[in-house]
Amino acid sequence: MSEPQYKRILLKISGEALAGEASRGLDFGVIGEVCEVIKECTQMGVQVGIVVGGGNFWRGVKDGAGRMERTRADHMGMMATTLNCLALADVLEQMGVEVRVQTAIEMRAIAEPYIRSRAIRHLEKGRVVIFGCGTGNPFFSTDTAAVLRAAEIDADIILLAKNIDGVYSADPNKDPNAVKYDFISYDDVLAQHLQVMDFTATSLSMDNKIPVLLFALKDPKNILRAVMGEQIGTIVKE
Ligand code: UDP
Repeated sequence: MSEPQYKRILLKISGEALAGEASRGLDFGVIGEVCEVIKECTQMGVQVGIVVGGGNFWRGVKDGAGRMERTRADHMGMMATTLNCLALADVLEQMGVEVRVQTAIEMRAIAEPYIRSRAIRHLEKGRVVIFGCGTGNPFFSTDTAAVLRAAEIDADIILLAKNIDGVYSADPNKDPNAVKYDFISYDDVLAQHLQVMDFTATSLSMDNKIPVLLFALKDPKNILRAVMGEQIGTIVKE
């Protein structure tokens, strides 16, 4: 049997991906499928850290625009990520996977505070660690949080599970000539303003030379395919 290509991964799941077709709230059918695959990864000895978004409940900049002060709206967004963390943790636990939630903003009654050394210890023991509240700061995204945590825990790769199956030269829904890249450099993503991650997240991954593999979560088995080194999605690296 083939071996996993990575020892430690940082999986970023957008909030929307957890909402399934509804695009708001939680679809436990989808969450169950995703968690099954995460379980398979841990059973193969892969250490899994997860950063989850909150867009299925609230996006500060979009949902709060014109109605709320940005910082407070972003606080709500970070709390939304925590809802997703707890849902994922619960489903993983029901499957017998050991899991810890660590939040960047302290919520001691419901989760551990984020402590890097402790997170690494959990990973080494085979526990899945789910990082909540993004970076803990407003004006950032959970994509940036994913890169930050990946750098901190020294992850081999960031698996960016999105609702699109790769990076295209143009929006494939609008341009029939759009081509999908198997590989693209950070420089080209930035120069061409390609919608992979926001600028902050892309430049942080570039500065720290962390490869980012973007693929569609529509088929959750893609997480396993990515871990096994199959050619899926688009890899962003130097
Ligand atoms: N957020 C934030 N700081 C962070 C990460 C997230 O303030 O470091 C807030 C922000 O309001 C954002 C929301 O949390 O809109 C949800 O995160 P994101 O939009 O990245 O979620 P996703 O699109 O991945 O579901």
